[in-house]
Amino acid sequence: MFVQRKTINSKVSISGIGLHSGVYTRVELRPAVAGSGVTFVRADLHGLRIPALQASTTAFDYATTVSKDDVSVGTVEHLLAAIAGSGITDVDIHIDGPEVPIVDGSALPFMHLIDAAGVRALGAEVPVLRITEPIEITDGQKSIRIVPSNRLVIKYKIDFDHPVIGRQIVHFDFQHDSFLRKIAPARTFGFVRDVEQMRAAGLARGGSVENAIVLDDRRVINGPLRFRDEFVRHKILDLIGDLALIGRPIAGEITAQRAGHALHARFVEKIIAAAEAQEEIQPRLLAQPAGSFA
Ligand SMILES: [Zn+2]
Repeated sequence: MFVQRKTINSKVSISGIGLHSGVYTRVELRPAVAGSGVTFVRADLHGLRIPALQASTTAFDYATTVSKDDVSVGTVEHLLAAIAGSGITDVDIHIDGPEVPIVDGSALPFMHLIDAAGVRALGAEVPVLRITEPIEITDGQKSIRIVPSNRLVIKYKIDFDHPVIGRQIVHFDFQHDSFLRKIAPARTFGFVRDVEQMRAAGLARGGSVENAIVLDDRRVINGPLRFRDEFVRHKILDLIGDLALIGRPIAGEITAQRAGHALHARFVEKIIAAAEAQEEIQPRLLAQPAGSFA
């Protein structure tokens, strides 16, 4: 199974504050050639290129970071989700600082940016990663499991002991549901009670009621919500962004419970290892064609 490789038509840019660093950056998406993949380019550091791949990921607490040498780009997941959700396989992401702008806390501003640029087919194909047997990662009550399927379906369940969140389940089918309408608008969320501790740890420095749903112990302090179950929809958004680090589209039915970036990362690692093991075996099963170089 293959899908068309796609890039954007023209350069587009967006600026804003980083959720955790509090640093303002400018991101410019630029068209890329078929096969180059999704790549961060540190415009402020001689154009150092950091592929948006699992092999580059270095941190997963609260957000996903990709690095090369000592240089990193943080909070990549919402932008990567918008890129994957738009079917883009090849694009350069020039950025002049250490963190992707959080904008409104969702992927919607990035979807609008991609829409403004336009998307075009590159006249090449990319093989879809299809797993052949179930893969599962568990950690206490947290789990993620994928079973074989010919398309990508994600079922995500969360259960928070909070009157506004509670138990939420969303089922998202990439083939039939709209990423733009159902998932992209869902914003990240945080609790007032955690802010002090996070700031002391150097996190959430750019966080505000403008770029996250903020909850106290009883309610949302900056309502209204965009969806009653916006919280679990955002978890799907994060997972789509983290799955993009596989580097090619994936098919399978995924069920995630109470997971987060750290578990997503271990899951992606396990999927890649399984795929590599399967693909290692495949060439040996193929007969050598007559007149081959071997
Ligand atoms: Zn997120």
